[in-house]
Amino acid sequence: MPPLVWQDRSREVLRALESALDPIGPDREPPAMLLVSLDSFNWVTYNLGLTEGDRIVAEVLRTLSEAVGQHGLAAQLDRDEFAVLLPNATVAQARRLAGAIQRGVRNIDSGVSGPILSVSIGVRGAEAGQAANTVIREAGVALDAAKAEGRGLVKVFEPFMLHALQIHRTIISDLTDAIRGGRIGVAYQPIVDLHSGRIEGVEVLARWTHPALGSVRPDEFIPLAEDLGVAGELDRHVLATALGQLKAWQESLDLPDSFTVSVNITPAELQHFEFIEQVRHALDDAGVEPRHLTLELTEASFVAGDDVDAYSLHGLRKLGVGLDIDDFGTGYSSISYLRRLPVTRAKIDRSLLGNLVEDVGQRRFLNAVVNLVTACGLSAVIEGIETAEQAEILRRLGATLGQGYYFSRPLPADAMTELLVSGLPSAVVR
Ligand code: C2E
Ligand code: CA
Ligand code: CA
Repeated sequence: MPPLVWQDRSREVLRALESALDPIGPDREPPAMLLVSLDSFNWVTYNLGLTEGDRIVAEVLRTLSEAVGQHGLAAQLDRDEFAVLLPNATVAQARRLAGAIQRGVRNIDSGVSGPILSVSIGVRGAEAGQAANTVIREAGVALDAAKAEGRGLVKVFEPFMLHALQIHRTIISDLTDAIRGGRIGVAYQPIVDLHSGRIEGVEVLARWTHPALGSVRPDEFIPLAEDLGVAGELDRHVLATALGQLKAWQESLDLPDSFTVSVNITPAELQHFEFIEQVRHALDDAGVEPRHLTLELTEASFVAGDDVDAYSLHGLRKLGVGLDIDDFGTGYSSISYLRRLPVTRAKIDRSLLGNLVEDVGQRRFLNAVVNLVTACGLSAVIEGIETAEQAEILRRLGATLGQGYYFSRPLPADAMTELLVSGLPSAVVR
């Protein structure tokens, strides 16, 4: 089926919604609106090409039309957004339809062994007296809420979402200025040798206190910075801050020679050819040797990677900086890259700790993961250690490096300086 001309169809949806709303009689349910967005459409066109993108869009539209059948109307609104109108449906029925749409889309052949296709869906069951435009806008609010939580989710509109959206908009409108104005701060969290208790390095984590909203979590503002195209600027700001602080520590404290600062890098940064030069400059500016810097990259940057990424990784290794795979064990299952990529350490995600203390199976599993990492010639850093029991078990499993609230929360520079001077309290170390 060729893609439909969306302007005409969206007007048709609007007209159908208006007539379903006018008025809602006692003998039937109000209309329900579903806004459907194809997740990762940029990934599709970037990796598979525009023609394949068109085919997939047409398949999605066919799936929507089949799912709604005679009960309503499906239309394409934008390249990767669609509307489905049920003129007479309960919210529960609309939800069921959303579920059927998701199943249908998951079954579409994306033509590669890459990610399975998915859609995010916002649902609004209209209320008596509502204007058609409001219903559509609120379905859009629900869709935004679904997308904000990840891929492949369905959200039904709730009034609180309007408030959340307002906050979201404030963050979006102020984030770029905050990054460019140098108002993003950092916190430092120690990476600890589990056996000696020595602080081997620190991870540098971005922090933002918004004047009206208070502190905003990195999990919230970093994805937005990526969407706004300013994540690279943020990372460079954090990198420069981290290297400046490291230099100050090197000059004033008696740090071990192996001490490193670890800085998080957004996956897309690797795509820029100038990235290696930027890192080199940052090191030169701060007067820090490359071996004292480690860059943390998530599995996503390797797995979706192509030649450009490999080029950057090898270039960075040649420069002499350390490379960590961050959040190891989440998301992607391909492990073959562990041996192929020029990385130095794998940071094992805290979700893999699970119920380590009580669950023997989990302990064996983690042991196997640590062995896998070390068999590939890398060291493992275990993230998210929160208790003495966990630390002790990990020591016995032979893990060498760890990080987590048990040793220290991320700290402002002053407090981190004190910790570097005093060392960790002996009670924490053993
Ligand atoms: P991440 O790189 O996995 O960083 C570790 C996160 O785990 C940090 O959250 C840290 O505060 C938290 N954490 C540390 N120990 C524990 C623990 O024992 N228990 C629990 N529950 N959590 C612990 P934070 O600072 O909120 O950062 C979240 C994520 O934001 C980071 O995850 C990283 O992906 C991203 N991020 C932070 N700063 C930057 C940055 O400068 N650039 C980029 N690109 N991403 C950053
Ligand atoms: Ca990290
Ligand atoms: Ca991590």
